[in-house]
Amino acid sequence: MSSAAFIPPRRILMGPGPSDVAPRVLEAMACPTIGHLDPAFVGLMDEIKRLLQYAFQTENSLTMPVSGPGTAGMETCVVNLLEPGDTIVICQNGVFGNRLKAMAERARATVVSVKDPWGRAVDPENLEAALKATPKARYVAFVHAETSTGALSDAETLAHLARRYDCLTIVDTVTSLGGSRLQVDAWGLDAVYSGTQKCLSCTPGLSPITMSGRALSVVQSRTTPVQSWFMDVGLVIGYWGSGSKRTYHHTAPINALYSLHEALCMLKEEGVENAWVRHRRNHDALQAGLEVLGIQFIVPREERIPQLNAVKVPDGIDEARIRQRLLDEWQIEIGSGLGVLAGKIWRIGLMGYSSRSDNVIAFLSAFGNLLADEGLSVSGREAAQEAQRVLQA
Ligand SMILES: *Cc1c(COP(=O)(O)O)cnc(C)c1O
Repeated sequence: MSSAAFIPPRRILMGPGPSDVAPRVLEAMACPTIGHLDPAFVGLMDEIKRLLQYAFQTENSLTMPVSGPGTAGMETCVVNLLEPGDTIVICQNGVFGNRLKAMAERARATVVSVKDPWGRAVDPENLEAALKATPKARYVAFVHAETSTGALSDAETLAHLARRYDCLTIVDTVTSLGGSRLQVDAWGLDAVYSGTQKCLSCTPGLSPITMSGRALSVVQSRTTPVQSWFMDVGLVIGYWGSGSKRTYHHTAPINALYSLHEALCMLKEEGVENAWVRHRRNHDALQAGLEVLGIQFIVPREERIPQLNAVKVPDGIDEARIRQRLLDEWQIEIGSGLGVLAGKIWRIGLMGYSSRSDNVIAFLSAFGNLLADEGLSVSGREAAQEAQRVLQA
């Protein structure tokens, strides 16, 4: 056993999350801890709620961070809305849609699955066919940006469809919040959850959520108690709700919330629309460079998530070895495939603070050189130059 301090290696995080955390966000986290009912802290909570409303583009009063990672936000939405026997249509085109289904089943709902191929967006026609065939459905759940495959679905169209069939929506925006256009109110989304460690580039472990008035009234008219005490928003609201009378529910992760506040201030300073444009621009440059390297995406061009690029491992190349060498020799982390895509793809993230032109250039140089070293006749320099051209256009 050693009592030496842990000093993490310096990395460039270009995987599916976490992404690099800005120095000022890390500094915010190191500020002195104060009490979770301290009036100064209560003021900070109100600020965080306002900034989250901006990030989500909503005026929902129930907008707050759940004390737990993105998966905790997912579970919060599922267990508060669903009662045993409810019917929910779940769009499954990757790992996170499958996770939604597993949670809904534990909440003892009846699940109707709408499956689309991994690597494709959710097909609205498939959803509509399922809704037509399932008059009992009360909910529709889908993942806006399916990080396991790199496919971005048309959340606005899917939400309109759900509404037409009188269903409330549960929407996963873990990888889209702060990275891709997301307009909770304009699109009429109902129960929406996200995470802090993807495009918000905050430390991992918090899950912003927002619920529409419609969703909240469904929660308030439940006939059975929410199966989770910790995630019951009716109880959490006693602490996070508006007004000065905050009561103890659980001890908030004070310092993590300092960091979320700082990350949200950065988003506000940049402007959320500018952040969407930045993610798109760096994606375009990366994509151009990857094309020079002969690397293929698994998702059709118009369905790609700009901040998460899922690409095929070329024949004869060892997927894990390239990732290991990127980490060892270049300090760059990228992701591997999940589930059926394990060993077949790499996932290259350009999220939040990691979505920078210098990262695109550094990655393409390193990656191209490694591929050349492993036997492909490609050049990292040419790929980086092509990306540079796109960035300067
Ligand atoms: C990362 C991710 C999650 C889970 O977030 P955690 O913080 O790992 O719990 C859920 N959905 C999507 C789409 C994600 O990318």
